[in-house]
Amino acid sequence: MIRLLSIITALAALPLASGAQTSLAYKVSFPQYEHHEAQIQLSVRQAPDGPLTFHMSRSSPGRYATHEFGKNVYNVKALDASGKALEVRRLDGDIYQVRSHGTEFMLEYTLFGDYVDGTYVGIDRTHAHFNMPGAIMWVEGLDKAPVKITFDIPKELNWKIATQLMPTADPHTFTAPGLQYLMDCPTELSDFHLATWQVTNTDGNPLVFRLTLHATIADDVWDTLVSDLKRLVDQERKVFGEFASFDYGTYTFILDANAWDHGDGMEHRNSTCITLPMKQVESAQIPRVLDVCAHEFFHSWNVKRLRPKTIEPFNFTKSNMSNELWVAEGFTQYYGNLLLARAGFNSRQEEIALLGHYVDAYMTSPGALYFTPIWASQTAIFSDAGVSIDKNNFSNIFFSYYYYGANIACILDLHLRKDYHKSLDDYMKALWAQYGKVGRWYDVADLETTLAGLTTKAYAHTFFANYVYGTTRDNLDPYFAFEGLQVVNAGKGKASWGRVTFKVADDGHVAIDRGAVKGAPIYDAGLDIGDEILTLDGKNVGSASDITDYLGSASIGQKVTIGFLSRGVQGTVTVTLAEAQQYGLQPLSGDTSSYDALQNAWLGPQ
Ligand SMILES: [Zn+2]
Repeated sequence: MIRLLSIITALAALPLASGAQTSLAYKVSFPQYEHHEAQIQLSVRQAPDGPLTFHMSRSSPGRYATHEFGKNVYNVKALDASGKALEVRRLDGDIYQVRSHGTEFMLEYTLFGDYVDGTYVGIDRTHAHFNMPGAIMWVEGLDKAPVKITFDIPKELNWKIATQLMPTADPHTFTAPGLQYLMDCPTELSDFHLATWQVTNTDGNPLVFRLTLHATIADDVWDTLVSDLKRLVDQERKVFGEFASFDYGTYTFILDANAWDHGDGMEHRNSTCITLPMKQVESAQIPRVLDVCAHEFFHSWNVKRLRPKTIEPFNFTKSNMSNELWVAEGFTQYYGNLLLARAGFNSRQEEIALLGHYVDAYMTSPGALYFTPIWASQTAIFSDAGVSIDKNNFSNIFFSYYYYGANIACILDLHLRKDYHKSLDDYMKALWAQYGKVGRWYDVADLETTLAGLTTKAYAHTFFANYVYGTTRDNLDPYFAFEGLQVVNAGKGKASWGRVTFKVADDGHVAIDRGAVKGAPIYDAGLDIGDEILTLDGKNVGSASDITDYLGSASIGQKVTIGFLSRGVQGTVTVTLAEAQQYGLQPLSGDTSSYDALQNAWLGPQ
């Protein structure tokens, strides 16, 4: 039974027999853009015999949770070469099948899209903003078939096309060598601003960068944005020593900043799609734009080419689970901030304060204290804009792999600087040479091997055992002190039952809103989010400030009896107050100028 099943599965995964000459041509038009609709026709040429099955995707490059793009597709029809209707069966919510057809036929559908971000589709009077998995129906078994896609822009609109799909002689028609590439090319149709510049890569080959921006922006602000982005991009190159060899020699920043946008940044192989809710891009907002660009462009190396084995090829029927997002996203998070400091957009103080926030979260979040970064990475399939209506226990079991990985990157960087006279840049360069540049994908064991090559086998083993496969941490004080910094606790000497916030419950009582998590004295005493606090040592609690006042005059180690109401059950618990925890990073006391050179090597321009 198992053998038979595996043979059937293996056959199902093979491309259809006559797929070699089959090609797919999409035509996208906008007869009702004011109602957020596009009309999409998919012509199958040299179609193989037998039933053909069409899917809307359930995953999208760079988005780690499963999404249901099929819900926004309707009026699905099939027509043969003479325009006669063919039968279309709906096999599942997002799966359609044409059982009987000739060598040429067409599938047609209406697409609705009114959500501008890096994952979905937004169509309106100002633009058509496509993330391909949200728009494109694909054909089972034909993912290697070459694709042509033509955008039919309404005559009254002044739209241009920004995409990393391959251009053709017709400015409205593009191609892709297959499904994987097509889906990795977000496309923006609008009257956008455009800047283009050329650089010479380390290998002597020219690379062209394009920045497109669909937004309201004054000319001088636009000029500043363009020159700032050039400076940032060049600083990023120095981490890896070279730019990636972009396909067709071009990389495109596709930016969209409008009041109705949802904030997002999504990396792709040769482009990034960045959306920002802004009425107008003013000079005060440039740092925010650069912040997203810094992170997303770093991905052109780290994740799009220096790539975990777990996330490619994309499985468009559900999200790919990964063990390595703490590197793919977390190290990118660390470098995104670091590069803003290195390029001079963030001050030294801002960068140190930001690292302090990361350290604080790492030292106080149950998801990082009790669960590994591998677990956090795996949980992305539920957490990365995943939609559900029931509650979860993420505040106790999940720490964002962005911040988890940023902390691990910072710790590893400091270890390498202090103990090996190397840096995380050296590690990234080594990973790039061994994996990213040569197109080999890595797993967690590979990451350890590369670290061992840069340090020692024993060190790499201990580091991975502690920080990656486990949750053990060594004393970080000497490492921060090496850079002239110290971890300080602003909560020192203050009594606390955890970082709890309150809200007013429907019955008017004070209820726990957030922060009752594992390790917090109030949680360990038995109270949870939503529980109402009626009394403290027998005194009635009328407002949250009664609690703050009470704790303000209490001392560490003091026992407090809490009268509570929880889902109709009334009772008391006794909580022992502990020292408050609110960590941050500060310079060591006294004159720290002797650390300037070391800090410059870390946080200064390279
Ligand atoms: Zn990212």
